[in-house]
Amino acid sequence: MRAAILDAAFPVGRQSGRGLAARYLAWDLARNGEDEYPLPDADTVLVTCTSPIDADYIKRLRAKYPCKAIIVGGAGSTSPYSLGVDSDAVCVGDGQKFIQTLCNEGLDAAKQLPNAWVHGDLRRVEVDQGFPWDMPPIQAEDGAYRLWCGRGCKNKCAFCQTAWAHTYSEHPDPDSLVLTAQVLLQRGKRINYLSNDPAQHSFFARLPPVDHGSYSVRFLAKHGLPHARQIRLGVEGVSARLRAAVGKPISDDDLVGCTSWLNAHGKGVRWFMIAGLPGETSDDWLALRGVIKRWKEMTPKGVLGISFTAWCPDPATPIATLPIVDDYWQHFTEFKEWFFSGVGWSNRIKLMMPQQPESRMRKAELAMGLPEGMLREGGDPGPNQRVNYPYSDGADRARVRYMRVLDRA
Ligand code: SF4
Repeated sequence: MRAAILDAAFPVGRQSGRGLAARYLAWDLARNGEDEYPLPDADTVLVTCTSPIDADYIKRLRAKYPCKAIIVGGAGSTSPYSLGVDSDAVCVGDGQKFIQTLCNEGLDAAKQLPNAWVHGDLRRVEVDQGFPWDMPPIQAEDGAYRLWCGRGCKNKCAFCQTAWAHTYSEHPDPDSLVLTAQVLLQRGKRINYLSNDPAQHSFFARLPPVDHGSYSVRFLAKHGLPHARQIRLGVEGVSARLRAAVGKPISDDDLVGCTSWLNAHGKGVRWFMIAGLPGETSDDWLALRGVIKRWKEMTPKGVLGISFTAWCPDPATPIATLPIVDDYWQHFTEFKEWFFSGVGWSNRIKLMMPQQPESRMRKAELAMGLPEGMLREGGDPGPNQRVNYPYSDGADRARVRYMRVLDRA
């Protein structure tokens, strides 16, 4: 085999570089005794994809290199259908076993593995959960070293594929993790922890502090003021009603109080919010206006960024089969007008807008492998249901619960 590694986030010829998954893949290939080859000399192309929207990139690659084997992996692999259409196989979930088999026994053997999605096959596909905890710290594009602390997430928010497609696990050897972090810091290196919520790990209190972090409001209530200067809060729904429905209940009082407290201690805060969750109404956006007004009244100093992402259904998640509607765009537009009209305005608040409905729909079509009409109707899990996601029974119950909470509120 003569393998080249590509990163769909760094398309060939447009930009040099590679992301974390591709760097990890290079390490994995090397430990299996294989060299990397330049793309023109390779017979096999290993592509890391962060999302099913990279299917368009795979399609172009296939058109350009019809005779090379194309194998897809990375975070996008847990929605394999669209990525599989123009590739030879998608390695679903973690890839240690896949790479080892590919290097030692060849592509045909790798395509028989339980986590190999091959377009047109009918067999069930597993999500490989075999994370290589023994890998060395990997230096990312920004120069900082990334240390893996955990995978999956105990807090199963109803929209979050990370939590529903991966089983929860944490670093099995905290002593060596802490030691590695200490040594890197002593050598003057920058480090970041890779985890969906570092505070949920049993060894969290032992980790040396770092400059950036993502936290939950629940974490801050439990552990107090974090060391990081920039605090990212996964708030999710634009109202307390929606936050309760997705499974991350944060009251308006707690959100405003926590943010104001962080600002008072010199921290910059950014909320990550999802626009367009199923069942969202204009009243939810009115609630957000109220929260912003209160934050302004309570917080004389400090900045707040609000990043909106448009909800997009992801396979395995409880609410993936609920109908897509575009009302969020009107709600966001009215919210933005209110904000800039003067009542809501503050030069200490920065708004980052969500995707427009057209690009959100394209993303949803690729994620679910379904056309627009079926996504608007809802109810169909799409061709990715061939994947044996680890919590599918719980997902059905969580969807019922989501609807019940919305109806009650
Ligand atoms: S959104 Fe964050 S807290 Fe919620 S399940 Fe996903 S990773 Fe966990």
